[in-house]
Amino acid sequence: MRALRWDGSRLALARDAASPTPAEGDALVRVALAGICRTDLEITRGYLEFRGTLGHEWVGRVQAAGDPSLVGRRVVGDINLACGRCTWCAQGLGRHCPTRRVLGIAGADGAFADLVVVPERNLHLVPDGVPDAAAVFAEPLAAAFEILDQVGAASGARAVVLGAGKLGLLVAQVLKRAGADVVVSARHPAQRTRADRFDLASGTPAPGADIVVDATGAADGLRQALSLVRPRGTVVLKTTVAREHRLDLAPAVINEISIVGSRCGRFPPALDALAGGGVTVEPMEDAVVPLDDALAAFDRAAAKGAMKILLDARDA
Ligand SMILES: [Zn+2]
Ligand SMILES: [Zn+2]
Repeated sequence: MRALRWDGSRLALARDAASPTPAEGDALVRVALAGICRTDLEITRGYLEFRGTLGHEWVGRVQAAGDPSLVGRRVVGDINLACGRCTWCAQGLGRHCPTRRVLGIAGADGAFADLVVVPERNLHLVPDGVPDAAAVFAEPLAAAFEILDQVGAASGARAVVLGAGKLGLLVAQVLKRAGADVVVSARHPAQRTRADRFDLASGTPAPGADIVVDATGAADGLRQALSLVRPRGTVVLKTTVAREHRLDLAPAVINEISIVGSRCGRFPPALDALAGGGVTVEPMEDAVVPLDDALAAFDRAAAKGAMKILLDARDA
């Protein structure tokens, strides 16, 4: 099969990679579409230690599984491969299992391939009305919904989203759908145009917000967020590439700010939103590129202003 692999220094499309072998409890999934994400680009810049097949945003069809009712079904899935036995897993928080592997990110081959192995318990059926090109956004959308699990009711809250990229635009839509009054911080006309495409308010946010989400992907995001949140408000950190940098945290203490780190989320709310409306993902798609052209697709995904590039393995 085909697989886009990272060996620590080079990204290459293997055409005769060995098909993965499912273990007990695993499903073998034939990948339909997979999205290139910022994390994938980070890995190919050497920021993470991952080696193997990339890809953690995907939709596909179950080819083989222990549970016969899954075979042939269209699925997406949680990318955290948890042990299933520890105290975190017992609470349904496999996303925090200390020995977890993460599909295409840590210790497990991902979905930029014809086939991927995923534990059956991680899978979620895609509702019939949700096309592949929307379902492929379930993983980042679940990460956006995680904020609602963390901050509780957002209805009536004044919210600011820093970062008009893919995740920021998903987060803003999720908060708006939950009843928050949302402004996407936008300094450039291109950012405002983007927010317009999702029917989101944008501009220069006024300080005093109840919730500020940093989805900038920049080291400076937290400082900006702290300058915009009201006393006793909440700052949610979605910037995953937060590297070491100096920051004066006195404002967080003086203003009693809750700082909440936020990563992956549950899939069911994301799939409900994709099926029921209230979240639009289609305008995020820049291009659907055949898996055979994955290297060119990566260059395109890395270009300034790029939104989502999807790899299409359905031609196999
Ligand atoms: Zn991602
Ligand atoms: Zn565990």
